[in-house]
Amino acid sequence: MKNVREENGQVFVAADAMKELVKKTFFGLGCSEKESLCIAERLTGANLRGHDSHGVIRVPRYAQWLGDGILVANVQPDVVLENEVLAIVDGKQGFGQSVGEYAVDVGIRKAGTHGVCIVGLKNAGHLGRIGDWAERAAAEGLVSIHMVNVRGSLIVAPFGGIDRRGSTSPFCAGIPLTSNEPPIILDMATSVVAEGKALVAFKGGKPLPNDAIVTGDGTITGDPSSLYGDTEPGRYPDPNNGTGALRAFGDHKGGGLNFLMEMMAGALTGSGCSGSLHGPQRPFANGMLSVYLDPQKFGHQNDGFVAEVKSYVEFVKSSRPTTPGGSVLIPGEKELAVLEERTQTGLPLAPQAWQDILDTAHASGMSDKDLKHIL
Ligand code: NAD
Repeated sequence: MKNVREENGQVFVAADAMKELVKKTFFGLGCSEKESLCIAERLTGANLRGHDSHGVIRVPRYAQWLGDGILVANVQPDVVLENEVLAIVDGKQGFGQSVGEYAVDVGIRKAGTHGVCIVGLKNAGHLGRIGDWAERAAAEGLVSIHMVNVRGSLIVAPFGGIDRRGSTSPFCAGIPLTSNEPPIILDMATSVVAEGKALVAFKGGKPLPNDAIVTGDGTITGDPSSLYGDTEPGRYPDPNNGTGALRAFGDHKGGGLNFLMEMMAGALTGSGCSGSLHGPQRPFANGMLSVYLDPQKFGHQNDGFVAEVKSYVEFVKSSRPTTPGGSVLIPGEKELAVLEERTQTGLPLAPQAWQDILDTAHASGMSDKDLKHIL
């Protein structure tokens, strides 16, 4: 297998081969060619940028969700409400990778005309790495802000609490520079780590910070096992099974931001908050409230906006590093460094995570010969 190698207990898979494998897997599971490619590019792209939590480790889970009806293949989203600067898009439980793209393109189109636009996306399948959406808007010269919640995913304890009351609710923003420079992208879960990072650690990958989890008896730890509880044979670890919870980052301030994501992406879009004391557990979906702003329509002279942004980046990066030999990074810089590295080395995976992806490929109808051809 020329595109796969093992090193230091990890498997490295060349990005293009992984993309092809994931594409063929979802095609085999019933997604159109276009949707399969969209899923493959986004999941592989997350690994390439170092966000393994939102990359190909999700393949078995998406396949399981497709089988369980939590995700629906080949959905055409509905624009349920629209005026010049606002649209509400219903993703109808379609793959987030494709219904997300649809909603972002609505925002890009409207902001391109009117200078500003707000798009609420409800009932989307898992939207993956939210930075993808800010990058897509930035490629069209737009500043964007994305507030996301996860309906039906009760996994985060509120500040000061033990019981799960929220989701990992990411916040993301993108600032475009010139067309030949990568944009600045802040993209972060409002929990100490995203759930996928706990999954990576649970599968033997990078360990969690030691304040990431609160167990069911209130102990603060980095051990992810209380998040997953017992996993039935043949099923994928399910964070709904555990008694522990992820913690919101940044004590009361991060807890407040986590709460705000539920208001914006859950309550305001109509997608629904992560949970309620009333009624059954809500079905899983991402909600996303996105704001698009065209800096060209803010009255700057020539490239005044980009010049000011770059000047401030330079100022920030000139701060003396706390670690000798270290450097001050701006949002998104780390991902770009990892992208450069992994384009060369391939995508590192824990052996179990790789085996799960191969098993899913087999289950989608691929033969050993098909796999050999790709890998
Ligand atoms: P993270 O903690 O790795 O990074 C968060 C941000 O911090 C990034 O913008 C990064 O550029 C910046 N950063 C990292 N190191 C830095 C440094 N040394 N100096 C300055 N800035 C630095 O990310 P995370 O919180 O674990 O989130 C991971 C991914 O999970 C994100 O892509 C997010 O969108 C995704 N996510 C998605 C969902 C969903 O429901 N779809 C839910 C939660 C998280």
